[in-house]
Amino acid sequence: MQYESVKKLVSHLYEFNQFYHNRMKEANVRPEDIQCLSDVSKLPFMYKQDLRDNYPTGLFTVPQKDVIRYHVSSGTTGKPTLVGYTNGDLDYWSEALARSLTSVGIGKDDTMQVSYGYGLFTGGLGLHYGAERVGATVLPSGTGSTERQIELMVDLGVTVIACTPSYLIHIGEVAEKMGIDIRRDTKLRKAVVGAEPWTESMRAHIESSMGVKAYDIYGTSEMAGPMFTECEERKGIHMQSDMVYVEIIDPETGEVLEPGQKGEMVVTMLKKEAFPLIRYRIKDLTCLLNDECPCGRTSPRIERIKGRSDDMLIIRGINVFPSQVEHTLMQIPEVGNQYMIIVNRKGSLDEMIVQVELKNEAFSDKMTDMMMLKSKIEAEMKKYLNIAVKVDLKEPETLPRFEGKAKRVIDNRVL
Ligand SMILES: [Zn+2]
Repeated sequence: MQYESVKKLVSHLYEFNQFYHNRMKEANVRPEDIQCLSDVSKLPFMYKQDLRDNYPTGLFTVPQKDVIRYHVSSGTTGKPTLVGYTNGDLDYWSEALARSLTSVGIGKDDTMQVSYGYGLFTGGLGLHYGAERVGATVLPSGTGSTERQIELMVDLGVTVIACTPSYLIHIGEVAEKMGIDIRRDTKLRKAVVGAEPWTESMRAHIESSMGVKAYDIYGTSEMAGPMFTECEERKGIHMQSDMVYVEIIDPETGEVLEPGQKGEMVVTMLKKEAFPLIRYRIKDLTCLLNDECPCGRTSPRIERIKGRSDDMLIIRGINVFPSQVEHTLMQIPEVGNQYMIIVNRKGSLDEMIVQVELKNEAFSDKMTDMMMLKSKIEAEMKKYLNIAVKVDLKEPETLPRFEGKAKRVIDNRVL
């Protein structure tokens, strides 16, 4: 089925779209060269830069009258990415999410609070339609007005929340201040969490502090938006094979890797109409798991995203992922929920500063206590990251909170 879809897609794009036609010509491949599924590796890659270069609609493959919605994601650099959807695109996107939500046991009996941003961002509307399709009652609360969100959660007996992990933690903090115990005073039991990288340690923290089970969700705006989740087994994210063909490549050489080998994910979307993607380099680092999932679903799974190949910081020649910093911090009981990573260059030397917010009970006026704690965290960082890190301890509730995607890295180096 995947092969039939790819073949049809490639022939169509070669014939009808200038961009894909030129790309394939440059790479010296023709649609008839795709004889089996693994021949997909003969096709050229697509990059974020291609999306920017063809902004706004150069990569659309249907006339404007067939486009019924746009979503726009703003990049940190350059032009935004515009994604268009036909009726069919919105239908299969909702289908993907409906299957995913079903796989985490969400259905008619649930009330789901969608606390992702609604609007140009794909999270809110994506989850909204997916949840409606499984028959859940949807509370489209979006981000912000956190106290009101918590009141509604209590009043309406919300059982599931969908939001970013950092916002969920913020909701927990605000609830505590309002004297509301999420476990005792709400019916919340599940959280569908994603749109930014998060670690197993953060999952453990969310689950123990709020008494919910947190499930990882994956997708990017280029793909359609959030699409795929873990199932109840939580052994990787099920990538619905009739919708997407996943390859994992070596980010340096572009060579396709075997299941189990870690690399960069490349996706070919099999059902998209308005805005197709062939061998798009998402830059997320993961590996394919092809063993059988105990839930019985046979689709391939990917491991939790470990970081992005372009999020990796190179500090004094050593590769550092923000997720490693988070993992280290979450093991230290005195450390609160918020941190920031700041990278500076002094002369020719890189310096990494990690600002760490402490828990209320860990914060002390005694200078010696604070110095000892600082040294302890610095030693843990050194042990785990293999580089010296300066730790800057912060009072509780002094670092920025994020309602959308958390931006925890400030790289001040001019490279
Ligand atoms: Zn499963």
